[in-house]
Amino acid sequence: MSSRLNRRDFVRTGAAAAGLGLTSRVDGAPAIRQARPRPVVISSTNGHTRTHDGTESCVVRAFRLMTGGTDVLEALIAGVNIVELDPKDTSVGYGGLPNADGVVQLDSCCMHGPKKRAGGVAALEGVRTPSKVAYAVLQNTDHHLLVGAGAQTFARQMGFTVEADLNTETSRRLWLEWKRRLDPDHFLDPEKRADAAFDAGRSMVRDGLIDPAHYFGTINCNGVNTRGDVCGVTTTSGLAWKIPGRVGDSPILGAGLYVDGEVGAAGSTGRGEANLYGLCSYLIVEQLRQGKSPKDAGMEALRRVRANTIEKRLLDPKGTGNPRFGLNFYVVNKAGEFAGVSMYESDYAVCTENGPEIRKTESLIAGREPQW
Ligand code: ASP
Repeated sequence: MSSRLNRRDFVRTGAAAAGLGLTSRVDGAPAIRQARPRPVVISSTNGHTRTHDGTESCVVRAFRLMTGGTDVLEALIAGVNIVELDPKDTSVGYGGLPNADGVVQLDSCCMHGPKKRAGGVAALEGVRTPSKVAYAVLQNTDHHLLVGAGAQTFARQMGFTVEADLNTETSRRLWLEWKRRLDPDHFLDPEKRADAAFDAGRSMVRDGLIDPAHYFGTINCNGVNTRGDVCGVTTTSGLAWKIPGRVGDSPILGAGLYVDGEVGAAGSTGRGEANLYGLCSYLIVEQLRQGKSPKDAGMEALRRVRANTIEKRLLDPKGTGNPRFGLNFYVVNKAGEFAGVSMYESDYAVCTENGPEIRKTESLIAGREPQW
């Protein structure tokens, strides 16, 4: 179903599949309590802007499968696979921007609310769909996280195709440009080198070579069905030009994703280090447990991150005292109430029985992320 699909058709078929009446409409505001949970799939914006040259976006596919009876987590993973396989999304899966050595290393995790099981992979090379490998960890092992060479060996043993290189022409060209901009004289001074590397990346965003949303970028996708089954998945190529082996928040349970089958789910995109410091997805789900709405729970985490951001290099150069980075959370509770929240103004994707939409997030700070 395309993002340009006939909305009336979607409403009719989606609602029928979901077994719902159409008299009231979920509009993101908390406090709409249904006798039965309202099915919803929520994700980062790329969950509805990418179709990998097909006709369905992630949220549309996941919603269609989930309301058709597919297990919620399997439906969500089928959705994010679209983005992982899309070479045009340079922040996820195949064609993701590589690390400082030019190697694409991918991170992912998933959690199944009803089954109370989880799986993840980090710094995985050579497999286009790390979310499927994370799911294989969940299904086939007693572990929660496999990393690096071990994760790749596991993937091979589970029958995944392992490729020598996941770069596309675009991701390799951008990496070479970054190398060219990086002053090699600074190599011996780790601090200066880190600054130079960051500046080289920022200059590429300023020059329009990289969409800021794909310098940092990831897909998190969470869903709940009419039975109240809550699941989530997060998948990413991580921070562009990262130090090889760097793992961000995305594959870490409690940070890039947390699901409690009795309560709800939260996941993130944006500056992973800021999220990891506060394990914000866990924090958000705990806030939901205490009765907060998805929006208020997410805002609490953003306030915590802002309070923990004190280093000058991480603050808005304009002297506002606010962080200079973006961080987004996608939150859904067991009743199907949801919210997209962010440090600065941003967007998110959602699909309900009313069809797919891109919406504005609720932001903690007015305006867009400070210009780099
Ligand atoms: N959170 C991801 C990471 O830190 C990147 C992103 O979403 O922009 O690896």
